[in-house]
Amino acid sequence: KPFMSIQALETLKEYFGFSSFRPMQQEVVEAALAGHDVLALMPTGGGKSICYQVPALCKDGLCLVISPLIALMNDQIQHLRKKSITAFAIHSGMRRKDIIQVLETAARSNCKFLYVSPERLETVLFKEYLPALHVNFIAVDEAHCISQWGYDFRPPYLRIAQLREELPDVPVIALTASATPLVQQDICEKLSLGSDNRFKIFQQSFERPNLSYSVFKIESKINKIVSILNRVQGAAIIYCKSRKRTKEIAELLQAQGFAADFYHAGLSTEERNTKQQQWIENKIRIIVCTNAFGMGIDKPDVRVVIHADVPDCLENYYQEAGRAGRDGQRAYAVLLYNDNELEDLKQLPEIRYPSPETIRTVYSSVVNYLQLPEGEAPGESYDFILKDFVKKFGLDVQTTIYGLKALEQDGWLSFNEQVFSAATVCF
Ligand code: ADP
Ligand code: MG
Repeated sequence: KPFMSIQALETLKEYFGFSSFRPMQQEVVEAALAGHDVLALMPTGGGKSICYQVPALCKDGLCLVISPLIALMNDQIQHLRKKSITAFAIHSGMRRKDIIQVLETAARSNCKFLYVSPERLETVLFKEYLPALHVNFIAVDEAHCISQWGYDFRPPYLRIAQLREELPDVPVIALTASATPLVQQDICEKLSLGSDNRFKIFQQSFERPNLSYSVFKIESKINKIVSILNRVQGAAIIYCKSRKRTKEIAELLQAQGFAADFYHAGLSTEERNTKQQQWIENKIRIIVCTNAFGMGIDKPDVRVVIHADVPDCLENYYQEAGRAGRDGQRAYAVLLYNDNELEDLKQLPEIRYPSPETIRTVYSSVVNYLQLPEGEAPGESYDFILKDFVKKFGLDVQTTIYGLKALEQDGWLSFNEQVFSAATVCF
């Protein structure tokens, strides 16, 4: 093996205390160190962080990490700092004065990792400091956020393309647990990966041999949940479709003597953090939640994930169920459904994806709103439209995203085709 591997392996041992790379980690690290742009598709818990952290530690300079959530950034920074690695973050929750201080420090001292939210990339302040940062790698964590076909689209991720133009020689390491071909293709397109022969893609098997999946058609779900929780010991997550239901189910479980609590995006940040922390520390065994819970949470010993309601697409299901058994020990994913839900699910494509007439209306509204000449696609401006426009016209975000995506690519006439290819991925 060439010198590079030895250096990478030593870095892995020295900083992270691991004796060997997991399958694929080493290939990704070596490709990145050889100057390739890399897209790594690895399941949740597969060890994606190492894939950019080791290369960055092997080289001079600073690794710029684009990350979608403040909680994820803080989590990584804490991990790195425990290993005496200098890491900072800048995000919207910080005062300007503090951001300046971080950027000053990053530009002057031996900072190895700078975590940024995609929104920061376009700010005057960030752009001013960028040339002074000595960036060695651009890591794009949760890279599926750049894709409108993904389960967690973040329009500001599209700004990374601009960053690439400003740092043309810096390799990109994009990481995601998303497995659908459409998302993969979209990531490559939006990050201009593969436009030259510098690019390498690595895909790990998404099979989870220690995870047992089962599905039950059942009317009295709560009884089933109780019986599962009695049989499978250890930490549990129960996913529900609504905020109201999380509370209801948590209360029913509490009444049966379980240490359960509920979690959804309607709670204050403080409440959410507290609940999350108590669950991580096993003070609460069961967290009953909406899909707002889970991203970036690295709790290895979750023994069972129960879906009390049918999730709305397979990709979400895979991500959520996959939070069980990250430690490689036996774990269970259980999905409960009833006939009504099945009927709703069948109708979902029609509900979720609007009719061509609706899209035509959306289209003319967008054109008017942006005062574009008729027929011209709205292009990249749709990230800001989303906030405003969604409110103004009372359309839901998903509809608008799919609608605009389709408009941008092919105009409204071919919308249905687009929709159905997306729907095929989901169902
Ligand atoms: P992902 O981002 O793919 O979900 P993480 O990077 O958070 O995964 O890593 C998941 C867990 O695996 C972490 O606890 C990490 O310390 C551990 N891990 C990663 N690489 C290795 C390795 N080579 N040997 C042992 N443990 C590892
Ligand atoms: Mg990760």
